[in-house]
Amino acid sequence: MSGALAKCRARRAATAGRLVGIAAGAVLFLGTPAAQAFELTPLPTRAERREAKKMSNIVFRLRYPLVEFALHSFSTPVHEAITQAAFDCDGGIDTCTDLDLDYAESGVIAGVRWNDDPPFQFGDGQGRYTGCPNSRTSTISFALRTQCWYNHFKDVAAIAEANPEAYTGGSGTMLARSHFGDLQFLHAMAPRVGTPAQDTKAKIMMWAEFAWRVQSGGADFITATTRTGAVAVAGFQDHFPKKEERSVSDLFTVGRPWLRHQLDDIAFGSLLHMIEDSFAGGHVARGGTPAAGCAAAPIVAFHTYAGQDKAAHKLHDGIDRARTRTSLIEVLRELVGRRDAKQSWSEVRPYLDECVFRLADDAVDASTAIDD
Ligand SMILES: [Zn+2]
Repeated sequence: MSGALAKCRARRAATAGRLVGIAAGAVLFLGTPAAQAFELTPLPTRAERREAKKMSNIVFRLRYPLVEFALHSFSTPVHEAITQAAFDCDGGIDTCTDLDLDYAESGVIAGVRWNDDPPFQFGDGQGRYTGCPNSRTSTISFALRTQCWYNHFKDVAAIAEANPEAYTGGSGTMLARSHFGDLQFLHAMAPRVGTPAQDTKAKIMMWAEFAWRVQSGGADFITATTRTGAVAVAGFQDHFPKKEERSVSDLFTVGRPWLRHQLDDIAFGSLLHMIEDSFAGGHVARGGTPAAGCAAAPIVAFHTYAGQDKAAHKLHDGIDRARTRTSLIEVLRELVGRRDAKQSWSEVRPYLDECVFRLADDAVDASTAIDD
């Protein structure tokens, strides 16, 4: 280890906790091997390292353990490469994996990562795990507090395994809710087995509207200071009830003030993540003929994670699978173009409704089956 590296690690231990008993480079399987979802890396970009150090004196780890959890995986930067490709990184996915490429703005990449690693703070009575800070105002994420995150994830995964309904009612941390509960739509997934496809699609369209209007700056703009409990998007309060005090800015950037000025990019990145996941076989089954002028095959079924038949999952979507997703890149580029053209939600909605998230006539209720 170089002197600079050792120093950097020592500094980081004071700010983001020390990972005890988890060797960087080892692959950790949490619950089940990740099945057919796109991987991403928790490594911050050079720009984010610089800003975090400057604004909050946070020094990130230089290496992270490779972790596969639920349908997700922190390892190679596949989500990031797909996103760079959507922003005109040409020459194939393999040429777009460099974290410091800047075809996509760094805020967009932060948003793409947010869905899989949304930073959160524990409420009263939560967070009593090894490696977790005592302060209720400390922010937890895989990238910021790896050991605390890992211990919390193991706990909620076991709870959801025993009771798939545990987090479907909106209780629990953002980590628990987004992976095992009511916020699974962030990964284009259903909250539970048997959920009608139309219901999951409605959640996805709700989040798409929210994200689009946070980034739009147009007449229907949702500002950074809007309370999430007051967001005027149909269905939003099913997940962020009226009494919810946190602002839109807090939702996306809590504990990471260096990202606040990029809120519009982060919201757009979150939308891209949801779309990217909807092209991964572990999340959504697509099939049949795309509508005229649409690159995406219709959706036959959404999947759910909690309660899956663990034996069914062996593969995950690494770079190999991403190479075959040309229709996904086409869809993402269309969205980037519409954003550049400053389209309003009412202009972009039909494209998402009738093309990207179009349901097949024979779409079925959510299951834990995995297709590809
Ligand atoms: Zn995801």
